[in-house]
This record gives sequence, C-alpha cells and structure tokens, in this order.
Amino acid sequence: MSPKPNRPQHVLVVERTERLTPHMVRVHLGGPGYDAFVAAADPDRLAMTDKYVKLLLPKPGTGLQPPYDLDVLRATTPKSDLPARRTYTVRQVDPVARTIAIDFVVHTSTGSGDDGLAGPWALAARPGDRVALSGPGGGYAPPTDPAVTHVLLGDDSALPAIGAALETMHPAATGIAVIEVAGPADEQPLVHPAGVVLRWLHRDAGGADPGTLLLAATRELQRASRPTRVFAHGERAAIKAIRRVLQDDWGLEKADMSLSAYWALGRAEDRFQEEKHEPVGVVFED
Ligand SMILES: Cc1cc2nc3c(=O)[nH]c(=O)nc-3n(C[C@H](O)[C@H](O)[C@H](O)COP(=O)(O)OP(=O)(O)OC[C@H]3O[C@@H](n4cnc5c(N)ncnc54)[C@H](O)[C@@H]3O)c2cc1C
Repeated sequence: MSPKPNRPQHVLVVERTERLTPHMVRVHLGGPGYDAFVAAADPDRLAMTDKYVKLLLPKPGTGLQPPYDLDVLRATTPKSDLPARRTYTVRQVDPVARTIAIDFVVHTSTGSGDDGLAGPWALAARPGDRVALSGPGGGYAPPTDPAVTHVLLGDDSALPAIGAALETMHPAATGIAVIEVAGPADEQPLVHPAGVVLRWLHRDAGGADPGTLLLAATRELQRASRPTRVFAHGERAAIKAIRRVLQDDWGLEKADMSLSAYWALGRAEDRFQEEKHEPVGVVFED
C-alpha cells in the first residue's frame, strides 16, 4: 500500500450478503458507522451514481482489526502485511435500513473465486464482520437534458455503477447500455428507461479476454446524431481502446465522456494504482 495521506476511516458492519449471480456478491454494510459515513460525505459525491469508497482489507492471517492506525502499522509491520486498499462502487444507499450495498465481482481464472483480496473477502463475509472504508469519491451522474443520448459501456466491475445510473435516469431518456459479463447467468435485472436499450455480452462463450467483446461492440455502435454522453469504465486496456474509438471515430470531446479504468488484467489494485503515474496507466493521452 502506498503511503498516501491517511483518509478518515469509517468502520461499517456486515449486515447480510446476497449471491446476486455466479460472479457477483452483494454485501450490505451498516451499523453505527453508517451515520458517521453519510454525515461526513460530501453531498455532491453522494449524489453521483458512480460514487465509490476505498475499503481497507486486512491481509489473511494478520489478525488486524479496523480501524487501522496506518502510521503506527507502517512503522511496525512489514509492507506485505499492511491492509490493502480496494476501490468499490456504492451500488445503493438505503437511508431506511441505514445501509450501503457494494457489489463485488468474484473473479478468478479457475472459477473458484479465490483471486485477489476483495472478492474472497466478500465471499467469506458474515454478519457482524467489520470493515474500514473511506470516501465517497465519484464524478458521474447521467445528464438530465432530454436531448442527450446516453451510452454506457462496461464490464462486470462497472455493472454496479451502470445499474445505479440507469435507475436514476428520466423515464423518457434514450440510449444504450452495453455490459460484458461472463455468461447468461451473470446478467442482472436492471431497472432502466424503456428508451435505453440494454445489451449483454457473454465473454465466456468464446473464451474472450475481458473487454474484448465490449470493444468490438463499441466499434459496431452508430454514434447518435444528438448530443451524446458516454460512461465507459472497466478493464484498462479495453477502456483505452474504447477512448480511441470515441475520440477518433465518433469525434467526441473529453467533456462528453466519463472514462476510467477500474482494474487491469494481471495487476492487483496496488500495482494498478501505482501505474496511474506511468504511461501505461493513463487513459486520456493529451
Ligand atoms: C472507482 C472504481 C470503482 C469500482 N467499483 C467496483 C465494483 O463496484 N465492483 C467490483 O467488483 N469492482 C469494482 N472496481 C474494480 C476493483 O477495484 C478491482 O477489480 C480490484 O482489483 C479488485 O480487487 P481484488 O482484491 O478482488 O483483486 P486484486 O488483488 O486487485 O487483483 C488480483 C488479480 O485479479 C485480477 N482482477 C481484478 N479485478 C478483476 C475483475 N473485475 N475481473 C477479472 N479479474 C480481475 C487482477 O488483474 C489481478 O490479476 C472498481 C474500481 C474503481 C477504480
């Protein structure tokens, strides 16, 4: 974990979990930390449909419990044993139940779901477990202008943000959402305006690398003649290639697009975040 300035931590408690699909687990977090989290949140960020938090997850076997005094831990604990930061979209805020819901992709090349830290944490989470998080950040909510055509593109990791965006759109909104998941069982029943077409792509059918189908589908889309706003988030190489299609072929300006890499093939998040300062990690080349 990089020694960034410590952000205020909120400790939330797992209330329940749901296996939404074979590759997605929803964790509902609440407890006394919920009120403090909402009270401290920037209201503008909370209003974003792609709002996200940074979870601090202990490495297995370290026995560390939140909240973490990161300054002390950095001075006393091997770097490999420090809690790891993982970034996740807040799929829902439920002010009645006083919980937030986070949807975790259970990802692995073997199908066992034991890849990484966060996926296994979510799979193993039980009521009463505690987790530290900070945030929220975020920067996108679908424009309310009825003249805008919405284009939402993403893989499983962006499915929570796309689902949240679709739910808030005006019923008369128009556009398309293209979401790449592993297979038909990973589709979710998303609420969306009738004028926003929902299209699912199934990666595992042809054994494609993540993002390959999403990129191919983007290349086949016709740009609408109306003003277009794009939200495209997911695997880094795919998002970078999609940016080129949107800028070079569609002629979109940077302001028309919310594009960001949510993860990168072969990189744990620690390395992925470090690479944001290297050419390979930059989505927009100026
Ligand atoms: C703003 C933002 C919001 C995000 N929101 C969500 C969200 O709501 N839900 C969600 O599941 N993810 C989300 N992500 C992506 C998530 O942070 C990364 O997938 C993260 O790497 C997962 O951590 P991990 O500990 O499971 O795996 P890591 O330890 O980081 O990685 C281990 C290995 O798994 C691979 N890997 C990581 N993620 C995936 C994946 N999705 N599919 C296949 N292989 C993968 C890595 O390339 C690496 O080889 C978001 C990312 C950002 C930046």
